[in-house]
Amino acid sequence: MATWDHDIVTALSNLGGSASYDAIYAEIDRLRDNLPQTWKAVVRRRIQDLSSDSAGFKNGDDLFFSVKGLGSGIWGLRSFVRNTPTASDLPLGNPNPHRVPTQTYRVLRDTDLARKIKLFHRNCCQICGLAIPLSDGSTYAEAHHIKPLGSPHHGPDTAANILVLCPNHHVLCDYGAISLQLNGLRVVQGHSIDPEMIAYHNYRFASKTQRNGPLATNGLEDNGDK
Ligand SMILES: [Zn+2]
Repeated sequence: MATWDHDIVTALSNLGGSASYDAIYAEIDRLRDNLPQTWKAVVRRRIQDLSSDSAGFKNGDDLFFSVKGLGSGIWGLRSFVRNTPTASDLPLGNPNPHRVPTQTYRVLRDTDLARKIKLFHRNCCQICGLAIPLSDGSTYAEAHHIKPLGSPHHGPDTAANILVLCPNHHVLCDYGAISLQLNGLRVVQGHSIDPEMIAYHNYRFASKTQRNGPLATNGLEDNGDK
């Protein structure tokens, strides 16, 4: 008979790599017969025993993650958190200096937290819903810090400041070409956006576009690249 740990991993895998306790319970209920009376408590305890994000972590396998500040009871599989694939036109050691700012931007902004938030959204753009399919069967999305991390904005690297976007909507947001509406964003359980970040975007970037024409953001404005 499979262990609880195995069943929890299988359940989360079947659910796309992250899910709420309720969804995990429902999937395990489907996978396993003859559940003992206290099985939900066992599942909760095993998840917390096997996650360094939990106070109950036993210093063993670190299979699961949660995101602080995100809705409680949402768990993910660490093995499902993927690095953003490197574009084929950005080989290591590319001698073309014009490529460097782009490469640096993609890597620096792809924080550990951003990768987890993208998993929660299954790489679906929070504006249009598109998840870009790649040739290996995986999907691609980008994480946008609504209030940019860099100077002079110093936005926080928190879930409430991160939007999961397709590349088109990422560019439109970076350049302030569109304003954001909180109630128009696609959401998943547990991940909510801070209205103050939306207001910052709309005032600092989108309104400037209307007054002065397109404006580069996320540090691009520092190099005069307007
Ligand atoms: Zn989109």
